Amino acid sequence: MKRNILLNPGPATTTDTVKMAQVVPDICPREKEFASMMKQMRNDLVRIVHGNPDKYTAVLFCGSGTVNLDVCINSLLPQDKKILVVNNGAYSGRAVEICEYYGLPHINLQFPVDELPQLEEVEKVLKDDPDIAVVYTTHNETGTGILNPVREIGTLAHRNGAISVVDTTSTFAMRPIDIEADNIDFCMASAQKGLMSMTGLSWVVGKTEEIVKSASYPKRSYYCNLFLQYDFFEKTGEMHFTPPVQTVYATRMAIEEYFAEGEQKKWARHTAVFEAIHAGLEKLGFRDMIKREWQAGLVVAVKYPQDVNWDFDKVHDYCYARGFTIYPGKVADQNTFRLCALGAITPEDIEEFFLVLKEALVTLGIQIPVQYEESLGSESYG
Ligand SMILES: *Cc1c(COP(=O)(O)O)cnc(C)c1O
Repeated sequence: MKRNILLNPGPATTTDTVKMAQVVPDICPREKEFASMMKQMRNDLVRIVHGNPDKYTAVLFCGSGTVNLDVCINSLLPQDKKILVVNNGAYSGRAVEICEYYGLPHINLQFPVDELPQLEEVEKVLKDDPDIAVVYTTHNETGTGILNPVREIGTLAHRNGAISVVDTTSTFAMRPIDIEADNIDFCMASAQKGLMSMTGLSWVVGKTEEIVKSASYPKRSYYCNLFLQYDFFEKTGEMHFTPPVQTVYATRMAIEEYFAEGEQKKWARHTAVFEAIHAGLEKLGFRDMIKREWQAGLVVAVKYPQDVNWDFDKVHDYCYARGFTIYPGKVADQNTFRLCALGAITPEDIEEFFLVLKEALVTLGIQIPVQYEESLGSESYG
């Protein structure tokens, strides 16, 4: 099968064995065979974040990663309580929008997208408002690649009687997570990202005790309620409604491959890919958005160079025709593109990519090293 290198922030490049695992005899997902596969999957997903199975559980949903944000936000807020969203990027912004759509009391605590949240401010807001029951943070803001201090935010949440909900969609099964040590009560992910499987399956891993408690909270969604889905799984071993059957088979295989590669080895591979991305960018003179020491090690947001011939779409198309996908994005008022270290790729793939990218720049008449006008506050390599 043709191998494409996806440098976009998910879906990620998958192995052929994961692709082929979807091709199975037709099966009704209500069969015991299928339920036992999902049971094992729920246990394995807790294991990936080192959760104690007596305290934590995984609940699967059909949908892309955003279904988890919806589920956690609408299901885990008690009546008359508030959510505090620590917001320094587009994905936290999505959580704020979900609060708005459901009409939920929330505080949108905004920080600049290229800076870490101020913990003193988070603490002050928590102290001043005893109604805050949920603190919501994004682990790796995938738009910029900034890594947020979830362990510290979790400590503050717990000290003030709130639970800590973390969007780990772009770190789960990549950057090692220890759910209890990281003070996370709920985290989430989607099959097409860290696990390098197919789209259509997502999950929340969280404290069983809190899910059971949430049975008495207002029910704000029919399809996306955490307790209802959990309860159905516990009673029947099945998803309440039709699961994405083929994606579940692919994910079963992806989990086998995850444990075979091993947490530390896989993280070392992503790190090597990330470093190869930085090395390639540096050689061509590109600049990134976020201070290197703040980057989560998975996404690099690169500023568009200032060159009359720069045309992202043309660069994209040149690379795409040669099997490499890059991804555009606007961060605050800046145009950027992203290169991500997700997926079943290696530093050698990145080296090949940079040969192609350089060819694209030459072909389009873009000056190398790429040019930037000096502007205040911009981070250059060094
Ligand atoms: C990918 C991602 C999501 C989910 O996006 P979908 O397009 O719904 O899969 C949510 N949060 C973060 C941080 C992500 O990287």
